[in-house]
Amino acid sequence: MDSIEPFLSSDQIAARLKEMGESITADYAGHDLLIVGVLKGTFMVMSDLVRQIRLPAQFDYMAVSSYGAATKTSGVVRVLKDLDQEIAGRHVLICEDIVDSGLTLNYLIKSLAVRGPASLEIAALLYKEGIQRVPVDVKYVGFRIGPEFVVGYGLDFDEKYRNLPYVGILSQS
Ligand code: 5GP
Repeated sequence: MDSIEPFLSSDQIAARLKEMGESITADYAGHDLLIVGVLKGTFMVMSDLVRQIRLPAQFDYMAVSSYGAATKTSGVVRVLKDLDQEIAGRHVLICEDIVDSGLTLNYLIKSLAVRGPASLEIAALLYKEGIQRVPVDVKYVGFRIGPEFVVGYGLDFDEKYRNLPYVGILSQS
């Protein structure tokens, strides 16, 4: 049976996303922003974060394969859906739910960088500290966390728990 131990409350998340939105607003002042969400997990982070960004922004989405029913990274990144828009010359901010091994973002950054954006940065709600298998430079980090497998607030286990309004640590018995 799954049990979920509350870890980050909705209030904590909302407060941190407000701060992140303020930093992003200040850093990109005077620029148009293209915010790219990495489906599916980011849908909740993205909708709450972008409401804290006071700038003209456009949106696009990519979908990549994730872990399926397993809680360990496979190391394989498969693009299921590419961007609809061109990014050459544009300021692109990738919005992610969580950075674990870093393999997904490392791959995305490499594949988007060659398209010639004016800038390319990452905002992630959660960053698992010290376990990246490849280097990833995440400019806006919500919370630095341990290696535990977390669910809720968009994050799933086997497609469950995405709609929890908080982040919890999953344990299975
Ligand atoms: P990475 O490529 O950095 O290892 O992981 C990228 C993806 O793996 C995330 O976008 C997310 O979908 C999934 N993932 C990594 N760690 C976790 C976790 O603790 N919980 C959940 N639910 N998904 C995770």
